[in-house]
Amino acid sequence: MPSCPRLGTNSTVCGYVYDPAVGDPEHGVPAGTPFEALPDDWHCPGCKRDKDKFNRA
Ligand SMILES: [Zn+2]
Repeated sequence: MPSCPRLGTNSTVCGYVYDPAVGDPEHGVPAGTPFEALPDDWHCPGCKRDKDKFNRA
């Protein structure tokens, strides 16, 4: 599953992993949404990184 890369500062690691089965309901993404179908303005809920910065598993 796509995972958020390191933040790159202060050795902080976000660690967020997008799970399509869960989605991101707090940010308007319903469960069952594939990563590829996320809106372009979706950001990591942990660190606000852009979707295109995620590592694809
Ligand atoms: Zn993140």
